[in-house]
Amino acid sequence: MFSYFILKKKALNYLLKMYIFKYILIYKINFKYIYIYINIYIYIYIYMTTLVEYVWIGGNNELRSKTRVCEKNINYVSDLSSWNYDGSSTGQASGGDSEVIIRPCALFNDPFRGENHKMVMCDTYTPTGEPLSNNNRLWAKNIFDQALGEEPWFGLEQEYFLIDPNTNKPLGFPEDKDPPPQGQYYCSAGANNAFGRDVAEEHLMACVNAGIKISGINAEVAPGQWEFQIGPCTGIEEGDHMWMARYLLDRVAEKHNVIVDLEPKPVKGDWNGSGCHTNYSTKNMRLGTDVRTGLDYINDAIEKLSHKHMEHMNVYGSGNEQRMTGAHETASFDTFSDGVANRGASIRRGNETVANGCGYFEDRRPSSNCDPYLVTGKLFETTIL
Ligand code: ADP
Ligand code: MN
Ligand code: MN
Ligand code: MN
Repeated sequence: MFSYFILKKKALNYLLKMYIFKYILIYKINFKYIYIYINIYIYIYIYMTTLVEYVWIGGNNELRSKTRVCEKNINYVSDLSSWNYDGSSTGQASGGDSEVIIRPCALFNDPFRGENHKMVMCDTYTPTGEPLSNNNRLWAKNIFDQALGEEPWFGLEQEYFLIDPNTNKPLGFPEDKDPPPQGQYYCSAGANNAFGRDVAEEHLMACVNAGIKISGINAEVAPGQWEFQIGPCTGIEEGDHMWMARYLLDRVAEKHNVIVDLEPKPVKGDWNGSGCHTNYSTKNMRLGTDVRTGLDYINDAIEKLSHKHMEHMNVYGSGNEQRMTGAHETASFDTFSDGVANRGASIRRGNETVANGCGYFEDRRPSSNCDPYLVTGKLFETTIL
């Protein structure tokens, strides 16, 4: 009943916008008809058909989706029921018992279909309710729920390559030879420097329209390599927004007939790999307390991380050892290091954070193909729990 009144107010505003009342005055339309119009409008508003794209993570951490037509308006995750798909087609179940259950977790607007249509990030379960082996969301949510008062914020920098399906090389790489060496491409402009801007730009707009917390994009160090940043997001929200942003990137790239490559070292040789730098802070790191500065809390966290280096590397993405050679703005794969403004360290504190005595720090180790649920959950587990 409550929402009915809200809708009635919305409908009234709408009619006002349409200058209906001007016509009442001019043509002396009977108010009874206006009342009927309002109710027809509410009826349409409640019973509008909504297309919902259910998105989930497949057996090789690829993103998959299918569409459900709902004969009502969808405003919250709780308006949606669970669904299922054929897991034998995604490498996640046998043909004999093929059903995988998807549970809606985070709702976004559908920037492609527009209007009231939605997209929903889901996690995956067996029919008996067990999470699938790569459903890391459930684990991460449980980690965050143990200390919600810490208010962890994350900002992830997703680097990626755009691949030309005809040459199988990144955009900007000629078919038969290498392009000029790195230097001219990072944050560049111009047809000889920046390759694939249409995709990066359209993806940015899609994220904004979907309601994803995207904080920027830039051209990266290698040709055809780009980055987008998701955050700051609180706790589990970071993984939800990052996975949906990756899905939108796949969809935009599909439109432009290019392939998104999230591998950490897709081009061997003297070319940068792709990472997923993870910026992180808790409330105490951002603000400090009466007795300690934010930087004290940051230093504590980094000290804890230094004792669990390999444990973290194990969940920071696959193929990362090819990227983390110590060259190309990376630290080495098997040793932990930290520093101020040092892009060759595992962990970097920004100059501003040190100067202010509070703020956040950057874990530069996660690779571009990492699972953000695992990375954010693991950071929180090691530093806080
Ligand atoms: P870099 O200088 O390493 O390229 P970026 O500007 O690409 O950094 O990304 C920084 C990310 O850190 C952004 O996503 C931003 O939203 C996030 N961020 C900013 N402040 C905080 C904070 N206090 N805690 C966590 N993340 C933050
Ligand atoms: Mn960046
Ligand atoms: Mn970068
Ligand atoms: Mn960074």
